[in-house]
Amino acid sequence: AVDVATFGETMAALRADGPIRLGGTMRLSIAGAESNVAIGLARLGHRVRWVGLVGGDETGELVLRTLRAEGVDIGHARVDERGPTGLILFERRLGDVVRVSYHRAGSAASFLSADDVRPALEPPPRLLHVTGITPALGPGPASAVRAAAQSGVRVCLDVNYRGRLWDRDRAAAALRPLVPSLSVVVASDDELALVAPPSATTERDRVAALLDAGVAEVVIKRGAAGASGHTLHSHVDVPARRVRVVDVVGAGDAFVAGYLSGLLDHLDLTGRLDRAVSTGAFAVASPGDWEGLPTRADLELLDAQPGSTLR
Ligand code: ATP
Repeated sequence: AVDVATFGETMAALRADGPIRLGGTMRLSIAGAESNVAIGLARLGHRVRWVGLVGGDETGELVLRTLRAEGVDIGHARVDERGPTGLILFERRLGDVVRVSYHRAGSAASFLSADDVRPALEPPPRLLHVTGITPALGPGPASAVRAAAQSGVRVCLDVNYRGRLWDRDRAAAALRPLVPSLSVVVASDDELALVAPPSATTERDRVAALLDAGVAEVVIKRGAAGASGHTLHSHVDVPARRVRVVDVVGAGDAFVAGYLSGLLDHLDLTGRLDRAVSTGAFAVASPGDWEGLPTRADLELLDAQPGSTLR
């Protein structure tokens, strides 16, 4: 059995250092919240499976080849000819402000169904990771998330609200019903309201309502301000690791990979959050969504003197 199973859409990603409308060179890679988490976990030595559909095209091959090269199990991923592999464009504007545009409507991945995912949960993984992006992709992906959440395995949801895909009301309507099946909820402070009941109006009340509903741990990402973790019996705040910011895209996914790695390693809440802010720091300190994610040995680099050479 694998340690973690996850599924979702992974796209070809093109990155421009300036305005796309001016043309010029772009770098080609892949991007997908769940596959970013999968790569992060694989680099830390965990056994992880990613499930998804790619188009019968060269960018689909790039997605599969990259995940295979990173040691992610793609035995349940497949090509689907109903649509192309999705595409995401990043353009860097104003230094570290990045604008994203999608070409993903009707993509192969938007045809994912519960039947594609079910076999990948046999034998059951120790953890299943889903994001709030997947139910926004279409009815099939939404039903896959519902079915997977009810499979009886321990589920982690990263709320990951994407305003380009749907509005907050639709997101809340799709995500709130999942709560009774969730073991771990990860959210930014502004995303908690999408999973907590509308009657809860403060962060404290939202966290309490989720714990009350049976969620074992609620983790709040606060960007450069760090993160907080809550269980029924404990509450821990940790600062972010200080690094030079290069590219913040993917920080949240890297953070989740670190958190789940800590959970798999039976670290306590503080240990899980420490690993999460460490992997998050690697993501912001390096270009790309996942390219800079650390191996276990790399984690120690955060404690090195700035400007030092390790020989
Ligand atoms: P994204 O959607 O871009 O992946 P996010 O909004 O989901 O990001 P953030 O809260 O921005 O997630 O970042 C996740 C974690 O990454 C933070 O909790 C923190 O530990 C780390 N992080 C983010 N920004 C910084 C920063 N500027 N310096 C150090 N660590 C950071």
